[in-house]
Amino acid sequence: MCKYKDDASSWGSSLKYLPWDHTQGDSLSRKLISATVHEWYDAKHRSSSIEEVALINSVEVISCRLCGSVKVISYGKYRNGIKRYFCKDCCHSFSALTGTIFEDRKIPVSEWIEYLIHLFEFHSITTSARDNRNAYSTGRYWLFKVFAVLEDLQKDIVLEGNVFLDETFFTVVESKKRLKENGKEYRGISRNKLCVAAAYDEAGHILLICESTSKPSFKSTWSALGTHIKPESHLIHDGEKSHRILIERLNLTHEEYDSDLLKKLPDDENPLDPINEIHSLAKRFMRSHGGYNRDNLQHWMNLISFILTEPKDRYEKIDLFINMALNSPRVVKYRNVMSKNSANKRFITNAVQIRTFFFQFLCDVTHQKSVFQYEGRIKPGGEI
Ligand SMILES: [Zn+2]
Repeated sequence: MCKYKDDASSWGSSLKYLPWDHTQGDSLSRKLISATVHEWYDAKHRSSSIEEVALINSVEVISCRLCGSVKVISYGKYRNGIKRYFCKDCCHSFSALTGTIFEDRKIPVSEWIEYLIHLFEFHSITTSARDNRNAYSTGRYWLFKVFAVLEDLQKDIVLEGNVFLDETFFTVVESKKRLKENGKEYRGISRNKLCVAAAYDEAGHILLICESTSKPSFKSTWSALGTHIKPESHLIHDGEKSHRILIERLNLTHEEYDSDLLKKLPDDENPLDPINEIHSLAKRFMRSHGGYNRDNLQHWMNLISFILTEPKDRYEKIDLFINMALNSPRVVKYRNVMSKNSANKRFITNAVQIRTFFFQFLCDVTHQKSVFQYEGRIKPGGEI
């Protein structure tokens, strides 16, 4: 077995240069590899296209992205053709990208398209970064940017009509598991699980809200769902006790199904099948991000809700995301979201990283299993 498979640090901060790029008289095979890698890199890191500049210039800028003042005037263009604005109050110039997740970009907005395709198709951050010729740290950083854009996604969702509701659970990381004195796990609904309320209505709304508890209670259920279900809707559920608070306070009609009996029904006869499908897709998605930080679970749920909700077409979804990101400024500073601990120090020895990346690339054609393996090893500080 290739030893590089287990090492997440085996490629890193830049894929632009090879160890022999600055030496003379290299072999023809090395020249071929260099030319190929540079071609890949340039294809992925080209300057802004005409279409991209046109899109950025079409964004309506009515206030200063730095201070909020409306005393803003057009102020020519940057060298790349992107419109420049000037604020008469804070005396700074800025573009339509200032204050958005695309600010401080070294990589054009178009690069996001491939990243988002991979993310929405349940690829792990590691494989996406590799496929995009980006550093793993870039993949993680961008994920936090995605989280920021989707932060309020579920805030205003209100389910109505027939509302299907059931909880699903995610396991805490090994290091945070609470065990009995003898080292064994507790039985029953484990206190080592994190409860997520999953609900769905026939209009296609999907809600995934963390309850910040291992076992749903009246308090956690009301806090998670109280504002998300229209009064007098019809609740279809498994009779979980804590749902009573929703039924009473929101005056819901309801029908209960015994979960043990439901398990024996074929999917097409199971009234809670839509919600089971959401559970299963959410689990599948999170399995492909095995090393994720559970503190970010709600962010992940926002992302899954976005992926599972209309539009289904992936390009329409990317179009929606890019427009959300351009029109709702949110700055995500690298230093604020990426920890400075040992997990990041893995990305500093450039030449070694590229060489080992090549070994990994060659060895790891069918890499999904090993990706899970080494994602599972990401240390707490390196979790997403
Ligand atoms: Zn200003």
